[in-house]
Amino acid sequence: MGGICAARALAKHFDEVVVLDRDEIPETPDDRRGVPQARHYHTMLGLGQRTLEGWFPGLGDALLADGAVRVNHGRDGYAFVGGAPRIRCESSFDVPTCSRTLLEHHVRRRIASMPGVSIRPRTTAVGLSKQGGRITGVKVEGDALLEADLIVDATGRASRAVRWLPELGFETPEAEEVTVHVGYASRVVRRVENERRDFRLAMVGTDPPQRLGVASPMEGSRWIVTLVGYHGDHPPADEQGFFDFARSLPSPVVADVLAESEPLSDIVAHRMPSSQWRRVDRMKQIPDGFLLFGDSICSLNPVYGQGMTSAVLQSDALEATLGGVSGTDAAFVQAFYRRAAKPIAMLWQMATGGDLTLPQTKGPKGASGSNFATRLLSAYMRRVMGAGQVSEMVASRTLEITHLLRSPAGLVSPGMVWEVLAASRRARPAAPRASGGQAG
Ligand SMILES: Cc1cc2nc3c(=O)[nH]c(=O)nc-3n(C[C@H](O)[C@H](O)[C@H](O)COP(=O)(O)OP(=O)(O)OC[C@H]3O[C@@H](n4cnc5c(N)ncnc54)[C@H](O)[C@@H]3O)c2cc1C
Repeated sequence: MGGICAARALAKHFDEVVVLDRDEIPETPDDRRGVPQARHYHTMLGLGQRTLEGWFPGLGDALLADGAVRVNHGRDGYAFVGGAPRIRCESSFDVPTCSRTLLEHHVRRRIASMPGVSIRPRTTAVGLSKQGGRITGVKVEGDALLEADLIVDATGRASRAVRWLPELGFETPEAEEVTVHVGYASRVVRRVENERRDFRLAMVGTDPPQRLGVASPMEGSRWIVTLVGYHGDHPPADEQGFFDFARSLPSPVVADVLAESEPLSDIVAHRMPSSQWRRVDRMKQIPDGFLLFGDSICSLNPVYGQGMTSAVLQSDALEATLGGVSGTDAAFVQAFYRRAAKPIAMLWQMATGGDLTLPQTKGPKGASGSNFATRLLSAYMRRVMGAGQVSEMVASRTLEITHLLRSPAGLVSPGMVWEVLAASRRARPAAPRASGGQAG
């Protein structure tokens, strides 16, 4: 998603944009080796979805025509967080919900059809070439060198280009890290109609947020059921262990989906040690003609569902930067890094701010403000969660903030604080396990 989102912005300013990928890129929406995370629940946040729709009008309808399910998170989503279900409310946005693979397929097809863009599969980058202070090309497997005015590394969190930079005499960006040691386990199952079920998507989390389960619809009348555990408390990938983990959640709805559905896939696992932000925006010695993009810059705890939206927002930042300059020297690269740092900082703050409320989470001091600020925020967020169980206003605004459609500052607007304080007094006490498959 990072590479193709970068290509979209570049295609508006360069005659030719070539996206290299080491994978075979399937003609149909199929899983591929290079993005193993696509076999786990992926959501596009409301802002990412809205931006994609602005780039490619009709994208949402095309996804729905291919079997995606329209989810209004407030109305159709069962969310059990903070000890009780969130109240149902109409959200101001819908998200066509499908597999990551289908979404990526549609976005890639549209970007690949832009003038000048081509995708070259089965092409592995193995190094960079340089001349003076400029990166001039990518070495690919088989000894070929592809030269370009600008090289973009979007090879993901494990970017090898980050290791190639010091070998060529350039600075390595410093990385900030907040450790979460999350483990994912996922399985795809058949989605059968059940008239007792009144949700299209279910999300259940423990309080404090140590375990999470999601049942999300996918095209082809399927659910993807994803279980997540923090700090080593990982969901097992064997049949019984997976089911028991789902049953351990404080509401039975996710386990019920599993119990009533035919499995269509193996259980697959994925681990992620930390949120990581390579501070390219603070680099002093930037080569001309080369930039990092997407997860290569910042890879966030996936629980918050922000990574693809980050790639989309970085693409807008790249487009805006390209509009103001004529070359691809270090000043241009630095201008992009600084512009991209704004949305990244907001995502980073939201993700690490939540994670640092867990005592096992380790991160640099100030990753989310002072300890006092973190404790204060954490106490207030508990009130917000409680209020979201009884106040539609709090529930819908919180959803808009989570989906980046409203500034996080909205959490502390006078009207919101008043409603949070009033409503949190009416909130239900931490609830026992919710009853059979019924939402909210
Ligand atoms: C378990 C999990 C769940 C997630 N859930 C969500 C979610 O709900 N919502 C969300 O928005 N984000 C989610 N994310 C994050 C999201 O997957 C990424 O942020 C997003 O894919 C953007 O990453 P990227 O394109 O920069 O890198 P990647 O997705 O890692 O892609 C890297 C690409 O580079 C290619 N490549 C790698 N090395 C080379 C090489 N040497 N030569 C050529 N090609 C190469 C790979 O084949 C691949 O195509 C999740 C991540 C994980 C791990």
